[in-house]
Amino acid sequence: MGLDEVLQEIAQGIHPYLAKGKVASYIPALRRVPLTKFGMAVCMVDGAEFAVRDAAEPFSIQSISKLFTLMLAMSRIGDEVWRHVGKEPSGTAFNSLVQLEYEKGIPRNPFINAGALTVLDCLMANTRGRTAEIIRDYARVLSRNFQIDYDEKVYASELKAAYRNRSIANLLRSHGRIGQEPEHLLDTYCRQCSLEMSCVDLARAFLPLASAGHSPLLHETVLTERQARRINAIMMTSGVYDSAGSFAFRVGLPAKSGVGGGIVAVVPRRCCITVWSPGLDRAGNSLAGIAALEMFVRATKMSIL
Ligand code: GLU
Repeated sequence: MGLDEVLQEIAQGIHPYLAKGKVASYIPALRRVPLTKFGMAVCMVDGAEFAVRDAAEPFSIQSISKLFTLMLAMSRIGDEVWRHVGKEPSGTAFNSLVQLEYEKGIPRNPFINAGALTVLDCLMANTRGRTAEIIRDYARVLSRNFQIDYDEKVYASELKAAYRNRSIANLLRSHGRIGQEPEHLLDTYCRQCSLEMSCVDLARAFLPLASAGHSPLLHETVLTERQARRINAIMMTSGVYDSAGSFAFRVGLPAKSGVGGGIVAVVPRRCCITVWSPGLDRAGNSLAGIAALEMFVRATKMSIL
């Protein structure tokens, strides 16, 4: 069966899962997204692309933006990043404060919120201004879509209701782990999370993770092979909130999800797969998205495990 057919079959088979999840409600502007949305895209390292249903519709990428920040930080300051943030799964919620306090303000990994804020702080120190635009432009260049932008409503909505992330930023600052003023850091963080991109945009943008750091679209190396491998490793252990074990069990690929319902998964040396469906499971991952990825690896045998 060709990949076009595989995606068509998944789009048919996914219906029973669509209504089962719940949209993220703690960011008020995300409550309005219909649960019926579903899109999936695959970009192969040889340039072939496949897409189904709402794959071209932009959605709020939320935590998937943490990948852009990490890639940018690693390409600009290299291994220095790992002096600020750990590489271990946290075993706690992505926005937990307890572990951070116990561990003296050193975040476990770059994908929990404390870690993402810390990596962003490193990037802000390196870029000295306009960091949010630099992240957006990086997303635009990697996906070759210059229409990509922030959603002002989602940004303002999250910033207003960011009680927990504000506490995390303040805790990091109180431990001397970040240099930016917490409010300034939080503002840039909410901007990066509000980026709107489609499954097709994301599959193109993160193809270098499947291609040893090389972007087949740009004909350019954006990360070293070692950096791409390391990001995939952190995705494998910490990319899907507190569900790394069950996700490895069901899908077996490095992945990063966001509360907007998007998931990016990487098959090293083969392709980047993205899926979007806004209904979330209890851990905060797209419920239909995980089911779709499970169907995909079952049909294609592309799991790495
Ligand atoms: N902006 C969201 C937050 O920090 C992102 C969460 C997510 O997608 O995991 O709460």
